[in-house]
Amino acid sequence: MFLYGNEEKQKNIEMIAKRIEVCEKCPLNLTRTNTVPGSGNVDSPIMFVGEGPGADEDALGEPFVGRAGQLLEKMLKEYAKLERKDVFITNIVKCRPPQNRVPTQEEVKSCQSYLDGQIIVIKPKIIVTLGNTPLYYFTGESKITQSRGRFFNWYGDIKIFPTFHPSYLLRNQSSTKGSPKWYAYLDMRIIGIMYRALKQGKDVEEVTKTVEEKIKSLENAGGSQT
Ligand code: SF4
Repeated sequence: MFLYGNEEKQKNIEMIAKRIEVCEKCPLNLTRTNTVPGSGNVDSPIMFVGEGPGADEDALGEPFVGRAGQLLEKMLKEYAKLERKDVFITNIVKCRPPQNRVPTQEEVKSCQSYLDGQIIVIKPKIIVTLGNTPLYYFTGESKITQSRGRFFNWYGDIKIFPTFHPSYLLRNQSSTKGSPKWYAYLDMRIIGIMYRALKQGKDVEEVTKTVEEKIKSLENAGGSQT
């Protein structure tokens, strides 16, 4: 697990990871090779939450290290102008569902306290959900194409900003205007803008209002290209 940022927060995140390591709360513990608690910067104002570990993640104990992870890293770099170590990345469930199936509601519920703990420690201002499972978990919505590019209120003043899961983008290679990839690139640009504004201490309400305008203008101008 790679952690950066505030040492006290790192210790608390490590403590949660230790609990995950011995967790037997759901049947996914029976088939996992490694637990995958999450990694990255505990001071990040933006946290990324995917669905669950895949085969590469299960083998290495790190989130988003396979092809989907490489694409996420590339998009962060090219469009958000961020390094992977700038943000914290985790999943809804911390053990791999067999054959990469969608985790059941029981599994999600069993694992919830770990994600809650990570959010309490990191205190992100914005949670970027990757794909349908975290979208549903945080918002109750089930259609990513209709929910991306919008903000949803969560507990406290945390905002949810849904975008596509990178593995979906690997299956949908087109990047023509209006395609999932085209929107994902646009979302990444917005994520970069929000990250820098929040790091400068700007208020999350103000930041999201400003970027809502920006999203509209980028969508209308067809401007997902850097
Ligand atoms: S998925 Fe979560 S609840 Fe299930 S065994 Fe792994 S850590 Fe425990």
